[in-house]
Amino acid sequence: MSVLRFDNVSKRYASGREALSEVSFEVGAGEMLFVTGHSGAGKSTLLKLIHLSERPSRGAVLFGDRNLLKVRGRRVALHRREVGVVFQDHRLLTDRSVADNVGLPLVLRGERRADTGKRVRSVLDRVGLGDRAGALPGQLSAGEQQRVGIARAIIAEPRLLVADEPTGNLDPTLSAEIMALFESLPERGTSVMIASHDLALVKRMRKRVLVLNQGRLVDDIRPEDLAE
Ligand code: ADP
Ligand code: ADP
Repeated sequence: MSVLRFDNVSKRYASGREALSEVSFEVGAGEMLFVTGHSGAGKSTLLKLIHLSERPSRGAVLFGDRNLLKVRGRRVALHRREVGVVFQDHRLLTDRSVADNVGLPLVLRGERRADTGKRVRSVLDRVGLGDRAGALPGQLSAGEQQRVGIARAIIAEPRLLVADEPTGNLDPTLSAEIMALFESLPERGTSVMIASHDLALVKRMRKRVLVLNQGRLVDDIRPEDLAE
């Protein structure tokens, strides 16, 4: 079964702007792919429909066998537990330690803070921040903060991770480190979908690429179709 399916999805904002037009695609389990296109092409909107920050105007978004049109009220929070989200601007709590930020999704789902320590340590090790657990986000570099955001997004082992311009503020070396981290997720059962307008970076990764242009899905490039 697919992890995610867009069926003829259109999104028109209240302003009248059609940000997505009849977009259809499917993401398989354990897949990693990019969504690219110029600024304003609809990348953020597409991701927002997946974590229910926005709703489609037409068409359907399916997450596994769940039709997101029917996910309302209290069930929105339940849905979001299965979708990890990484933002360009991290959105970390500045007055909480790295460990508290990372453990937050577990606390929100009702686990006692005393019981989350082991998983927090393990995920911080995975992102290379094992020695920064007690630091405040403001004491970390941009790349480290982004890794905290990723640790927080993956600690609850989501079926899908969506990332909106996750390397937007990072230099090429740090971007490559973050991408390596994303590449390690599919083998652990998390599909990964990354919106990026950095074409050079996207090409280097040699993954599937959805190309948006003015809200339309104009290409779906598979790595096996690329010439050597
Ligand atoms: P991208 O992420 O590719 O830059 P967005 O999804 O942010 O594209 O935006 C797609 C289009 O929708 C743009 O024209 C943008 O200005 C418009 N848009 C985005 N969010 C809103 C909103 N909340 N209200 C009205 N228009 C919006
Ligand atoms: P992003 O590229 O991540 O979408 P933006 O700076 O374009 O970030 O948008 C910031 C916020 O403003 C987003 O929540 C987006 O939905 C909203 N937004 C973007 N474009 C418009 C617009 N034309 N009218 C109203 N809201 C917008």
